[in-house]
Amino acid sequence: MRLSCDVLVAGGGVAGISAAVRAAREGARTILAETNGFPGGTAVNCMHRYICGLYSSGPLPPEGTLNGGIADEICAKLKKLAPGTKPVKMGKVLLFPFTTGDLISVLRSLSEKQAELDLLYETEVVSVEVQNGRIRNVFARNNTGEIEISTRAVIDCSGYGAVIRLSGAAYDISSPEERQLAGFCFKIKGIKDPGEMAPVSVPYHISQAVAEKRIPSYLKYARFYKSDVDHEGYCLISIPPGNSPERIREAKKYAAAVHDILADSIDSFRNSRITEMSSVISEREGLRMKGEYTLTEKDVLSGRKFHDGVVKSAWPIELWDQKKGPSCRYLDDGAYYEIPLRCLKSRNIKNLYCAGRCISASPEALGSTRVMGTCISLGEQAGLAAAKDLDLL
Ligand SMILES: Cc1cc2nc3c(=O)[nH]c(=O)nc-3n(C[C@H](O)[C@H](O)[C@H](O)COP(=O)(O)OP(=O)(O)OC[C@H]3O[C@@H](n4cnc5c(N)ncnc54)[C@H](O)[C@@H]3O)c2cc1C
Repeated sequence: MRLSCDVLVAGGGVAGISAAVRAAREGARTILAETNGFPGGTAVNCMHRYICGLYSSGPLPPEGTLNGGIADEICAKLKKLAPGTKPVKMGKVLLFPFTTGDLISVLRSLSEKQAELDLLYETEVVSVEVQNGRIRNVFARNNTGEIEISTRAVIDCSGYGAVIRLSGAAYDISSPEERQLAGFCFKIKGIKDPGEMAPVSVPYHISQAVAEKRIPSYLKYARFYKSDVDHEGYCLISIPPGNSPERIREAKKYAAAVHDILADSIDSFRNSRITEMSSVISEREGLRMKGEYTLTEKDVLSGRKFHDGVVKSAWPIELWDQKKGPSCRYLDDGAYYEIPLRCLKSRNIKNLYCAGRCISASPEALGSTRVMGTCISLGEQAGLAAAKDLDLL
């Protein structure tokens, strides 16, 4: 099959849906290709519960989201599905609660009836053709066979930088030992009464098992979140990055081991059971495109502004070091930094943009930019830029 478009978006996580919707709203004929059969990417695969990075920090509740636009639309639609939802404070930050089912519905309603936008689910981008420093054709595969898509611009929202890698665009990647810990989530039902103490007692009992060398040390960073549904909760375990069938089997084995420890040591978990597990290991850090500018740790912590700043963020630098575990470094109260458009433009492939987890940032800066709220706005700005630049490409 042969298709043609102005803008091809690879990946339908929160960044990809926002990029595709915005490019189409600007009148660009847009195609989105997503490997999964549903939108939402990591947020859905890893059973997230809160959108981070939407708000400024500080003692006063914010009026709205930092970036407005599609981020505001998504929050409004989530609120409509779950009336009464409002941002919750956790430590120094504000989070917007959601369920993955609602997020999928909202992303579908935002994108499915959008004029100029064709959505190709269960479709993986597998190769690209580059001529004179520009991507001309993108090749994708689904159960109908190979699809050749001729396009004027590409936005890589694959999280893993699939198009960046395939096109020969410049990129950086940390060594496997230096990369941040990845995550694997599972849902537990039948918890008698998780109580207020479960988020504390779960890590405590897991740490005990680690101290007794029954499970690997990185499992001590396990987190437990109560669900809105009675007798239900989510456990997020941390494991070294890397996805392969063997690694996923290993993650499932550790999830079962962690649950066994909880069932043995905490009364309320005694008769509980795992009812759902992530299908993949969710990576916090992967390939980062080398753009026209690379955002640094200093830019983030000093609240730097840029002449081409397009997305604002106040999220802390949240790192999940393989040896030291999680840490957060916060901006001053009320401060925010900007992400320049240059971080979304490849430095050597003229019509390649990216958004979400693979933007041009140092590993430390990525520790702040990679959260969902920021990824939504990065996607929106990449979609806008790609559509506006079409005549120049
Ligand atoms: C363990 C963990 C916990 C986190 N917790 C939170 C949290 O609580 N709140 C928060 O806000 N953020 C959290 N984050 C960060 C956040 O989930 C992600 O960084 C964000 O969702 C990334 O969105 P994205 O659209 O850039 O990428 P993704 O959500 O990763 O989407 C990329 C999409 O591209 C698709 N794709 C990949 N390759 C191809 C291809 N070749 N062709 C077509 N499609 C392709 C994938 O199937 C996927 O759907 C967490 C991350 C991790 C790893």
